[in-house]
Amino acid sequence: MKVAIIGAGMSGLFLGYHLDRAGIAYTIYEKRPAAGGTWHDNTYPGLHVDVITRSYEFPFARKTWWSRRYAPGTEIRRYLVGFADEAGITPRIRFDTEVTSATYRDGRWDVTDAGGTTETYDVVVAATGFLRVPRLPRLPGMDSFAGTAFHSSAWDHSVPLAGKRIGVVGTGSSGIQIVSEMGNRGHQVRHFVRTPQWIIVKPNPRISMVERLLLRVPALVRYWDWRMSRLRLKTDGTETWRLVPGTDRETMTEQFHRVLREQIPDERLRAKLTPPSRPAASGSPSHPTTTRSSSGTTSNASSAASSGWSPRASSTSPARCTRST
Ligand SMILES: Cc1cc2nc3c(=O)[nH]c(=O)nc-3n(C[C@H](O)[C@H](O)[C@H](O)COP(=O)(O)OP(=O)(O)OC[C@H]3O[C@@H](n4cnc5c(N)ncnc54)[C@H](O)[C@@H]3O)c2cc1C
Repeated sequence: MKVAIIGAGMSGLFLGYHLDRAGIAYTIYEKRPAAGGTWHDNTYPGLHVDVITRSYEFPFARKTWWSRRYAPGTEIRRYLVGFADEAGITPRIRFDTEVTSATYRDGRWDVTDAGGTTETYDVVVAATGFLRVPRLPRLPGMDSFAGTAFHSSAWDHSVPLAGKRIGVVGTGSSGIQIVSEMGNRGHQVRHFVRTPQWIIVKPNPRISMVERLLLRVPALVRYWDWRMSRLRLKTDGTETWRLVPGTDRETMTEQFHRVLREQIPDERLRAKLTPPSRPAASGSPSHPTTTRSSSGTTSNASSAASSGWSPRASSTSPARCTRST
């Protein structure tokens, strides 16, 4: 049996690891020059994982060198590339090789890459991700905009930000992380908010040396993993904790409102920044995301889906992540 995996992000690497263990031959096609997928493409300021890092690791490839409870994107990238190397997956990846077609013929797949090479496989797995295609808004005047504009997933690090007026469009996890980090750095930033997010502020402390040492004790690791699995039952899978009426959802809703009250004293502005629907009550399940606010904490935001474009602007001051129109 021969398997073709398209994509060397987390999913492709995970599958490669298990195929290796099962003794099944595989090739990973990756159009980028390195592994990591999402974490290779996204390098914007403030990027970090929005779930507790230890629950984002592969359970069979634990690390103890994470710097924070919610690790920065650079560490996740380093982790994935290192994992591919250590697990012996890297030599099986064809970098800079985009798959352009896969054709099912006589019970097998002909996989063709952009260079025109075709190989035949028994199984093809599309591990191509679902958040990797940048969505650029069509804003009037964009073509004649004289400043620099780029998508968060293609951050142009050569552009100096000091002294610039920065506008950020989008209130998903990335938008909030970027705005918060810009505030931390003392930049003038304006956040254009179509749909307000539910936000919870939570700390992102450094992982101390003692904690790192404790994570080397097998019994403590097992205990930690047990706690994580309990947490996962609540936050993953069916996400019932948010969709089903009950104490969990009420507590979460109250936390959201408390953050709004604490961070935004102006009642009128608070009303504008209060999401139109209650947490997770929109049609599509929302993805909880964690962002770092300018006060050195992280926020957990849960977005409600919406349609239509009715821009509202808000800005952050360098000192706090407060917003004003
Ligand atoms: C900014 C950002 C932050 C995120 N933070 C979190 C988080 O904190 N927690 C969380 O759980 N999730 C987070 N996510 C979701 C994240 O996408 C997943 O956690 C995970 O990394 C997805 O991995 P993947 O391998 O499925 O896809 P991807 O990481 O998207 O990898 C897909 C790979 O396929 C390659 N590819 C695509 N098409 C082709 C082709 N035709 N030929 C060859 N190669 C191809 C791409 O180049 C890419 O490397 C985040 C996403 C983004 C964008």
